[in-house]
Amino acid sequence: VPELPEVETVKRTLNTLLKDKVITDVTIRYAPMIAEDINHFKAMLKGHTIHEIKRTGKYLLFDLGEHYLLSHLRMEGKYFIKPTNAPFDKHEHVIFYLEDGETLRYHDVRKFGTMTLRDKATYKSVPPLSLLAKEPIDPTVDGTYIKHKLNNTQRYIKTALLDQHILSGLGNIYVDETLHCASIHPMRRGDMLKKNDYEIIAQCARKVLEKAIELGGSSIRSYTDSLGVSGRFQNELNVHLQKDQSCKTCGTIIEKIKVNGRGTYYCPTCQNR
Ligand SMILES: [Zn+2]
Repeated sequence: VPELPEVETVKRTLNTLLKDKVITDVTIRYAPMIAEDINHFKAMLKGHTIHEIKRTGKYLLFDLGEHYLLSHLRMEGKYFIKPTNAPFDKHEHVIFYLEDGETLRYHDVRKFGTMTLRDKATYKSVPPLSLLAKEPIDPTVDGTYIKHKLNNTQRYIKTALLDQHILSGLGNIYVDETLHCASIHPMRRGDMLKKNDYEIIAQCARKVLEKAIELGGSSIRSYTDSLGVSGRFQNELNVHLQKDQSCKTCGTIIEKIKVNGRGTYYCPTCQNR
């Protein structure tokens, strides 16, 4: 599953390839992926320039002038750039034809990805972006913010940090790494931590995500970003997927448990309950 650092990597890659290119036509081969009327959707894209690609949470925002095209990759979404005459892959569901003879192709084996248009004047104040919490790399996210968000949760800290209404863009890999960095057991109650723990979580989440973004995200399981660019953060993992390895901090063997159904890796010594 692409998480925030991987989506950031996709964004950067697409920007180098698509900035200022004009969309001449759009073919939709799987209509349920588009959240609105297809003819309207096509009309809003045809003839428009991709000025820039931005990111909010795990949404890619294609700046088309007066509108953003919001694209969410969900489980398996990927973008590819291919010549117009390259044969279609059966998993390519949306094809954007570009003025220069290339095509941008949205590829999604599971078909969970979504695309929708939003007016630039209002996109932040309407769903889905209005529902997103702040990102850990947002400079205003600190211990006070996290403590406030966790005040009324009785859930485990691991589960709470995965909740996109609390922090946006922190997925399974990065929550495990954040809690190891913060020396907090994943099954501590989210509302019962010490005041200083919230500050450490804020600092660790930022540190982990910034490092992951710097390294282009992680290439784990089937995920590589568009155009075959692979992240290198998987080489920096301290606990995630490290079961039976020695903790790099203290040498204890890393354990794997389930926390509300999610595979969770932690060091029983560094993250003592
Ligand atoms: Zn340890």
